[in-house]
Amino acid sequence: MIINTPLIFDKSNNGCNGYKVPKSSVPKYKLSEYIPDKLIRKQKLNLPQVTEFQVVRHYTNLSIKNHHVDKNFYPLGSCTMKYNPKINDAIALHPGFSLIHPNQTDTTVQGALEIFSNLENILLELTGMKGITLQPSAGSQGEMVGLLLMKKYHEDKNNDKKYVIIPETAHGTNPASVIMTGYNVKQVRSDSRGRVDISHLEELIDDQVAGLMLTQPNTLGLFEDNIEKISKMIHDVDGLMYMDGANLNALVGIAKPRLMGFDIMHINLHKTFSTPHGGGGPGSGPVAVHSKLKKYLPSGFINKKDGSYFIDNNKDTIGKVHTFYGNFGILVRAYVYILSLGNKGLKNIALYAVLNANYLKYLLSSNYEIPFSDGTLHEFVISAVKQKDRGAKALDIGKSLLDYGYHAPTVYFPTNIKESIMIEPTETEDKQTLEDFAEAMINIDKKIDSDSSYLLTSPYKTPVRRLNEAQANRELDINYNDIQNKD
Ligand SMILES: *Cc1c(COP(=O)(O)O)cnc(C)c1O
Repeated sequence: MIINTPLIFDKSNNGCNGYKVPKSSVPKYKLSEYIPDKLIRKQKLNLPQVTEFQVVRHYTNLSIKNHHVDKNFYPLGSCTMKYNPKINDAIALHPGFSLIHPNQTDTTVQGALEIFSNLENILLELTGMKGITLQPSAGSQGEMVGLLLMKKYHEDKNNDKKYVIIPETAHGTNPASVIMTGYNVKQVRSDSRGRVDISHLEELIDDQVAGLMLTQPNTLGLFEDNIEKISKMIHDVDGLMYMDGANLNALVGIAKPRLMGFDIMHINLHKTFSTPHGGGGPGSGPVAVHSKLKKYLPSGFINKKDGSYFIDNNKDTIGKVHTFYGNFGILVRAYVYILSLGNKGLKNIALYAVLNANYLKYLLSSNYEIPFSDGTLHEFVISAVKQKDRGAKALDIGKSLLDYGYHAPTVYFPTNIKESIMIEPTETEDKQTLEDFAEAMINIDKKIDSDSSYLLTSPYKTPVRRLNEAQANRELDINYNDIQNKD
């Protein structure tokens, strides 16, 4: 493997190029007659001059430095990394989908609008909700849209609301979305079973509570079995129930969030319904709501009249949240995934996600402590406290897994479990893969006693070893000048 891949600019040789274009038959125009002088570049654009083969090798070598789900197992807790069937991409790249433009008139894109509408109906069926927007381009944006809907509901009713309650195990985007929407966060503790502590919730609820945001199943992979009681407590103060449905794997085709009392939820299409994610997306986080919130949904939604689809608007809407109607290519991929699975296949997502998580948990349980494991659904959380006492932390275990060719699980989240390692195998993995992974985890555990210093300095086989994980965020240093001044 090429360890230090130089920038493609460093490979530039004057005169090399990787394209051939025929002589243009279009007459030359003077740019300055059409574009204001200040917008015209004065120097030549500094592009690397390389051959086609150099370009192909450069990017292929970069791409294999990264781990990805097509390469090997990616057991990342919370952020569901499942296999993305290639048919999704093949269909999304069909020119009938990839070459249409959102500014085309409705009559010329009826097929695309029909896909929006069909996907909306399927998601409504799966969630039991009555209204939906496909526009948000991430789960986190979905959260904010959902909370803006909550806010609008309370403003319309002149409710004086200030707080949203969130469990301590919530995904970090939850409190961030609450603050950005202008509410404050109240944090509810977990009880000894890893679920919302009902008596603490009771203490926190008053008339100023706008709602509760809950991940169901929660971050420990456990079903909040007091959900009906919780919903009633929140509804009694005219609060709204928000479900973080980023990972719907355990519920798809089995349980409908609306029937548990939820009024608003987002779904990460780029987790539950495959489609690639990570490395910045693009994603899609549709928001589905109870009928009483439907009129507030973002403007620009799909409607149907006399057999034709068209884009419609509501006067009570919270406004627009995305250019046009969302990340179309991602919506097509999710739609293809759903259709290719069918009714039975959709149910199997949930059944196999739960089976795989429970099997892997069982394989690991004799070597690792799993504190809240009564009722594991699609994921579970290990505590590596015993391993830490013997000399290797959760971080060391994660790093060492990289040498086995796996992506590391989520570590140190959720925070209510010490030395947490959060694992979600997903339903797309086979039995052998789970067993191989368990064997690697068990080998690592044994290695702690025989050679812990080896673990403390792993990984050894990756392009880079232990990086400072926060430095790039804290000291962002993109030195464009080096590139610009070269020539
Ligand atoms: C991934 C995730 C989110 C955020 O979704 P993004 O698309 O990454 O913004 C929110 N909540 C939970 C539980 C998640 O797993």
